[in-house]
Amino acid sequence: MNRYITAALSAALLAALTSCAAEPAPQTASERDVFAMDTFMTMKAYGDGADKALEAAETRIFELESELSVTEADSDISRINSAKGAAVEVSPDTALLVGAGAQYWQDTAGALDISVYPVLREWGFTTGEYKVPDSSTIAKLLKNVCGGEISVSGSTVQIPADSEIDLGALAKGYTGDEIMAIFRENGVSSGLVSLGGNVQALGSKPDGSDWRIGIKDPFSPDENMCVVSIADKAVVTSGNYERCFEADDGKVYWHIIDPADGCPADNGLVSVTIIGSKGLQCDALSTALFVMGTDKAQTYLADHTDVEAVLVTDDGSLLYTDGLREKLDITGDMPSEVIARD
Ligand code: ADP
Ligand code: MG
Repeated sequence: MNRYITAALSAALLAALTSCAAEPAPQTASERDVFAMDTFMTMKAYGDGADKALEAAETRIFELESELSVTEADSDISRINSAKGAAVEVSPDTALLVGAGAQYWQDTAGALDISVYPVLREWGFTTGEYKVPDSSTIAKLLKNVCGGEISVSGSTVQIPADSEIDLGALAKGYTGDEIMAIFRENGVSSGLVSLGGNVQALGSKPDGSDWRIGIKDPFSPDENMCVVSIADKAVVTSGNYERCFEADDGKVYWHIIDPADGCPADNGLVSVTIIGSKGLQCDALSTALFVMGTDKAQTYLADHTDVEAVLVTDDGSLLYTDGLREKLDITGDMPSEVIARD
């Protein structure tokens, strides 16, 4: 009897050893590129459902674009902007995002204000016809910047008659979350998307190691200043180098507007990266903390430990939250400091 057991055990052991010895075949990624929301997007997914997931993700991206676009005449946002103060029935996505815009306005003391759009347009950031508006034009437009007067009730949105909104600060973050959900539903266990400055990962790399995401040096955007290791996280950067122009006065102006004065936010930061599990939150906060500037951003981060951040100051220092100590490789030569939190 014993002999039989020993023989069976040896056979099982041998089978286990042989299967261990064979190298697991490296999984190949399914990939897809999409141009949408004014951005070049790349998606990569691993697993049996990858192709189906990418197809569904692409459909979802274009669905979101058609609801949220500020330029397509029949999008939800265009209908809200031309409603002259009337309540407008919108899709669940739009209601959720406009509601998030109102919520983050409150949460960031007005730094994020989705109704700053007419000011942004006056500077030419929406069209590429850049100009420095005169101060009386800005003052007039600022009267209708109304983040606190945006209301969402069920599936209807209402904003003041002379105001207009755009979701440029939030849409790609939410899109990232939606793509992660689609990947999961289709059985994808590992995937990575890059939507402009927004990177978001599902799980870790197929071999179980972390994804390594480069963060651009705002002073030299062709190079990375650091690499962050993540799994199941979004990494969202707002930088002053993304959409900017040099005016006749020799100054450079960029597309993140401080709702306090209607000018490109210039409060000490030139790049803000937020790392967290929700793309929407990371996107909202990358823009908002850029507007807040060096001091207020650090105060905000001290009170909100559910996200990590990498900040770059205009005098060339890199500040990062303590949760990134083991996760960040600084590759450039910028002096760095840890933002300590309790
Ligand atoms: P990007 O779109 O380059 O990834 P952001 O996520 O920082 O960068 O979003 C910038 C966009 O957000 C702008 O193009 C504009 O549409 C909008 N925006 C600019 N300033 C603000 C602001 N203070 N609050 C809300 N939205 C803003
Ligand atoms: Mg943003």
